[in-house]
Amino acid sequence: MSTRAKAKPDDETPETPSEQPAEAEQQEQQLCGKPHFLPALTHVTCTQPAPDPDLPPGTPDHQHQHQDGDALYIW
Ligand SMILES: [Zn+2]
Repeated sequence: MSTRAKAKPDDETPETPSEQPAEAEQQEQQLCGKPHFLPALTHVTCTQPAPDPDLPPGTPDHQHQHQDGDALYIW
């Protein structure tokens, strides 16, 4: 008895991306961009929206945040 390789039917699954993210909004979101206060983390910049420039002087800063993979920096 000899084993015969079975002829596989072509299992072609056409990969046609039908999902199109509706990111047509070209609204420029200003980011805060403030670097982390630690000298070792100056590459970490705040990704929160920039604070409203209309805020009166003396308004405390928001809580700066930066998500880096699993790490979330908050300062
Ligand atoms: Zn910030």
